[in-house]
Amino acid sequence: LGATKNGQELERISENSGVGSRILVFVRLRPMAKKEKEAGSRCCVRIVNRRDVYLTEFATENDYLRLKRLRGRHFTFDASFPDSTTQQEVYSTTTAELVEAVLQGRNGSVFCYGATGAGKTYTMLGTMENPGVMVLAIKDLFAKIRQRSCDGNHVVHLSYLEVYNETVRDLLSPGRPLVLREDKQGIVAAGLTQYRAYSTDEVMALLQKGNQNRTTEPTRVNETSSRSHAILQVVAEYRVKDAAMNIVNRVGKLSLIDLAGSERALATDQRTLRSLEGANINRSLLALSSCINALVEGKKHIPYRNSKLTQLLKDSLGGVCNTVMIANISPSNFSFGETQNTLHWADRAKEIRTKAFQPNEEQLLEVPESEADQAKLLLELQKE
Ligand code: ADP
Ligand code: MG
Repeated sequence: LGATKNGQELERISENSGVGSRILVFVRLRPMAKKEKEAGSRCCVRIVNRRDVYLTEFATENDYLRLKRLRGRHFTFDASFPDSTTQQEVYSTTTAELVEAVLQGRNGSVFCYGATGAGKTYTMLGTMENPGVMVLAIKDLFAKIRQRSCDGNHVVHLSYLEVYNETVRDLLSPGRPLVLREDKQGIVAAGLTQYRAYSTDEVMALLQKGNQNRTTEPTRVNETSSRSHAILQVVAEYRVKDAAMNIVNRVGKLSLIDLAGSERALATDQRTLRSLEGANINRSLLALSSCINALVEGKKHIPYRNSKLTQLLKDSLGGVCNTVMIANISPSNFSFGETQNTLHWADRAKEIRTKAFQPNEEQLLEVPESEADQAKLLLELQKE
């Protein structure tokens, strides 16, 4: 990263301010697993200059040079992380800016997409020794809020929920399914636990416990939660003094989403038994893909209502929000097909434009429902 990073970041910030910023898309390659090595798998992905991803079936220098001239197997993202990349580096490059935006009173969201076993949960949650984006973001949020709060008062609320089989559940307080309701703020899950966090230390344990509450696959003992989407929402509220020394409240929301495995439901075993679940998982991920396609094509109607996941992500995709996507991939040639699908999906996601802007402190943030009214509001805000 080093010297070029600042330049890149500056470029990204200016590109990302104002109306119609696009979604930032990153790719993270995980290391080859011991099991894969033992089974004789070869590496079929090569990352060059922390940006370009070459999909090869043979990853030698010569093959790479040859493939460079071939079209269709080369992808470029905002950054691509080789398997040596640390959790901290992933956090700093993908999410640190969003935390900054949340502290300015905006919303932000990060989601991990990819096949089961590609490294989504490792990236989002991580381990005790190597905490992931969720934990590092909260740590950073706490540190910055303490520095900036003008009166020492601040509130950080966490909620952690799951969408499994088109049912929404509270991961911090498992029980009956939650009902989604639309109110002024957007879609809310009625009765969802808002956990007030006081320090980073308690957060990792809380999230790990929540993660254990994710619905496990009874038929696939070693693969937990491959069909469930986990959504962590962090709402931060604190007070600052504005230029006129008035005390103003700042509230921002960060959503961190560990999506279900993107592999096709039909490719998994037990297809007849679990066809209902398969269909529903397809429904959520298909709905997400349809929304992405509709947004890319600039359609007026975006089909958010087609699934619980897209209802919950409505303000993260097309609304007033900064969105980051991390596509996780495996290096193994055994996963070649899935990796190719993930890279194509991520490539498509690069084209989405979202409406991100800096709200005026005094302005009440009432976001109009229709896209036309939103555009009008954005123009007005720009004039000021
Ligand atoms: P997913 O959530 O996409 O199904 P996981 O995050 O559970 O995949 O990753 C599968 C396995 O690979 C886990 O054992 C995880 O610890 C390991 N793993 C994933 N990414 C990395 C990484 N960047 N470095 C080290 N181990 C990783
Ligand atoms: Mg997982």
